[in-house]
Amino acid sequence: MESLGTEPQPCTDPDCRGQHAPAERVALAVALCAARGNKLTTLRRHVLELLWERGRPTGAYALIEALELRYDRPVGPPTIYRALEFLISQRLVSKIESRNAYVPRAHPERQHDGLFFLCSICGASTELEDPRVLRVLAEDAAALGYRVDRRVVEVQGACPNCVPAGAV
Ligand SMILES: [Zn+2]
Ligand SMILES: [Zn+2]
Repeated sequence: MESLGTEPQPCTDPDCRGQHAPAERVALAVALCAARGNKLTTLRRHVLELLWERGRPTGAYALIEALELRYDRPVGPPTIYRALEFLISQRLVSKIESRNAYVPRAHPERQHDGLFFLCSICGASTELEDPRVLRVLAEDAAALGYRVDRRVVEVQGACPNCVPAGAV
């Protein structure tokens, strides 16, 4: 799981569906944190690596289990929640509220908020960037006089692998 040595390559594809190599995205996270003067500690990096390897929204307790296996010692929930809080504050991870789970953000190098399609059959998630949705939300917030702090849109459904062809 060693990811250092992989060169980060900021993504320039506007239609990218986030199919990046986990090691490259973790290397990018290390570089982004360093550029912001924050440190991606070993534990924080391991949490991010695990999320990238799972490739689907993962709950805190599944992360704890995986880390305990890796470290061969107990890992307290507060430790994990602090690491997740840091990763969220750095826009490296999004929390999927409807599942109480976490996913790595495909493009932390970009300033955008997540639009997540979530498959309720296999558990997969797809992150999308759609400037149209963000524009509408910004307009609505302005009309209501809201200051927006968090803007994660979660859409539940069945992914193409779980819907028989032609059934949509
Ligand atoms: Zn990309
Ligand atoms: Zn599915």
